[in-house]
Amino acid sequence: MKTIKQKRSSYPSSVMNKFKLTKDDLLPGVSCLGCHIIGVERRRDHWCCPKCGAKSRNAHMRALKDYQLIFCRNEITNAEFRWFVGLESRKVAHKLLRDACVKVIARGKYSKYILPDLG
Ligand SMILES: [Zn+2]
Repeated sequence: MKTIKQKRSSYPSSVMNKFKLTKDDLLPGVSCLGCHIIGVERRRDHWCCPKCGAKSRNAHMRALKDYQLIFCRNEITNAEFRWFVGLESRKVAHKLLRDACVKVIARGKYSKYILPDLG
């Protein structure tokens, strides 16, 4: 089995290279189920669309599913998740990931969250 070494600070580079993608090709953010814009905002305990006002408690689960499809991997770090869903709070990200994941590999700042198969 081949081991892919990655810099801790980098985003999953293997798949990005495969599709000749850069981070700029991706539009991070959670999309709205109602009007499909990307950029649904996180409120205290739900996501709220700034355009149509649609609310969702688990809109980030669809984003995680997209993440799995794009990067072909089941693990995500707090920083990657925050970048991917456009979230600033590390604490909120941790709570959402902890609820969504089957396992957390705790390594302080570099904790990895293992996602269930969302496909
Ligand atoms: Zn909307």
